[in-house]
Amino acid sequence: MPTKKIYGWTGKILKIDLTTGLTSIIPTMDYAERFVGGRGINAKLHFDEVPASVGAFDPENRLTVMTGPLTGTIAPTSGRVEVGGKSPQTYPNESYTVSSFGGWWGPELKYAGFDGLIIYGKAPKPVYLYIRDGKIQLRDAAHLWGKDIFTTQEMLWKELGDGRKPQVLAIGPAGENMIRFAIMMHGSSSASGQGGFGGVCGSKNLKAIVVRGTGYVEAAKPKELMDVSYAMNRWIYRADQRPEQWTNIASFHRIGWSFFQGQKVKGWKWLKNYTRKAEACHACPLGCRVFSNITDSQGRQGSAKCNQFWYEKYDVQRHKDITEVFYKAAKMADAMGVNGFELIGMIPWLQKCFEEKIFTREDTGIAIEDVGTLEFAEKLLKMITYKEGFGKILSEGSPRAADIIGRGSQKHLPHMNRGFAHHWDPQLWSPQALFWAMETRHPVSSIHAMYWVFRMYVQELWPAAGFASSADVVAWSRELFGTDKAIDYSDENFYDPVHATVAKWMREYDVARRSMIVCSYGPTPLFFSSYSSAPHYTIPLRSPDLESRLFSLVTGSDLVPDGAALIAAGQRIINVERVIAAREGRTREHDTLADYLFTKKKKGKVTGPGGKAIAVERAIDRTKFESLRNEYYRINGWDAAKGHPRRETLDALNLKDISVAV
Ligand code: SF4
Repeated sequence: MPTKKIYGWTGKILKIDLTTGLTSIIPTMDYAERFVGGRGINAKLHFDEVPASVGAFDPENRLTVMTGPLTGTIAPTSGRVEVGGKSPQTYPNESYTVSSFGGWWGPELKYAGFDGLIIYGKAPKPVYLYIRDGKIQLRDAAHLWGKDIFTTQEMLWKELGDGRKPQVLAIGPAGENMIRFAIMMHGSSSASGQGGFGGVCGSKNLKAIVVRGTGYVEAAKPKELMDVSYAMNRWIYRADQRPEQWTNIASFHRIGWSFFQGQKVKGWKWLKNYTRKAEACHACPLGCRVFSNITDSQGRQGSAKCNQFWYEKYDVQRHKDITEVFYKAAKMADAMGVNGFELIGMIPWLQKCFEEKIFTREDTGIAIEDVGTLEFAEKLLKMITYKEGFGKILSEGSPRAADIIGRGSQKHLPHMNRGFAHHWDPQLWSPQALFWAMETRHPVSSIHAMYWVFRMYVQELWPAAGFASSADVVAWSRELFGTDKAIDYSDENFYDPVHATVAKWMREYDVARRSMIVCSYGPTPLFFSSYSSAPHYTIPLRSPDLESRLFSLVTGSDLVPDGAALIAAGQRIINVERVIAAREGRTREHDTLADYLFTKKKKGKVTGPGGKAIAVERAIDRTKFESLRNEYYRINGWDAAKGHPRRETLDALNLKDISVAV
């Protein structure tokens, strides 16, 4: 029998045992038919291969690194890669979580012949994995061990370059030393940041994964793929290039957050003085990363994304302006391999503990009054990275450090949830509160997806950037959810059960996109594109049908024939992740929100009745949120007492092989 031709995929997932050096191949299609790719396949691989008792730093933990069917094609924003595994960062227990990174590594892996990697075991000494056009080698990394991430990449480019640089995913000293919030990084600013997977690599003696491929990804319908991609790119460009607006996400990063903190002049100064150009992932017309003209301590220039912001507030507080300090601090953290988002939660906690005299300069060696200086950032990063003195405690991450210290220090961490520092508080949008309660980590990509439709695109909420009228927004709400109420965030409607449905839909949409893979960050999703009242923002398709169309054009398969099928795939993947969590001991009582969200009011503008902008100010009501949570379990077909999927729910989702674990 002739084998069926596969489009989009290489058909091979490479499995590497670092202990023995043995490799094997798993057919991608065994997983792709039900779980699409990226985040979906990672979840099923973890379910199949990692028992709940395995710890994050155990050799038996699997680091799964997966591309999607769109990766390596011209489908816009398809350059990202998904990572999964037992995480050392999640709190209170090490549990399965996900992360992702952008850049050019994922397409190159496919051009080298593989769709993804499953890495397990522990190498007897430091190694790096080198994959070149189907050939696999574990090479000695003694000369790289101890080097920062950027130096490691430069050394490997020099060592292995053949006129073109290979793509490198590497860890820094923080990963080598198994810091719980160490990152893996590729290029100048594409990091798998949350989850602590840099530490997982360190525990396996794996310094880097280098890929170089001269192959290509074959699409089933290249002409149509080009047409749809061209239309999307044109749309994205128009949305991004209007001279009067800067709020598109790419501009957002080129300008910096200060603009949004009411410091317009400082934001513009950053844009004007410090940025050279935008930098993009493969097949992305946007380029949301800022390439700066500021050099790091070794004279290197590079780019930054969200990671640039962890020290900005302190730089501005100290210098009354944005200076080079915050950017240099960000690049320092990147080089060492430390996740700056953890520091967003850690520094306020340190400040409070110093204020309350829970610890002092003598106890810790930290001069907290110096926060905002580059010297402070450098000292803190070094202490953590090399586990020096008090840094050994901090390297455990803020919640575990607080548990070790005790003396009431835990109560100064109200802004942490499941081990991740809060940002984008959900008091304005109730589905977002459900994201925070239900995810395995900071739910950033679901929030991205929701923000476009509920805020950024809405003309009334953001006149400079939005193009969707109130009527467009209402039409969308009616069509998808059968009611106007899905976009009504007035106090009267905030806890309406429809918002549990919105949360479910948005999560499913998000994980399905992270399986394709399409980036959650650009001005896709294109929810309003086919019926917006603004004609030049109209393209023939809109999300989620648009993503399913890309899938069909690349793979030639009808496995995800329309948006509804895409959402159903997302539902299946979320249920697999939920069963993994249940197996690890997660129950309803862990589906929590950070406590301060119930007391701290947040002000802002939201869409109210008829999609019109209204001003609100509120904290989350504990009792009403409980009802919304119950509704979320009910519509998911999960047992509300435990928060676990029911067996019949899994069976109906074609997950009989998963339901045995319930
Ligand atoms: S929007 Fe940014 S992160 Fe997303 S694909 Fe484009 S450059 Fe990469």
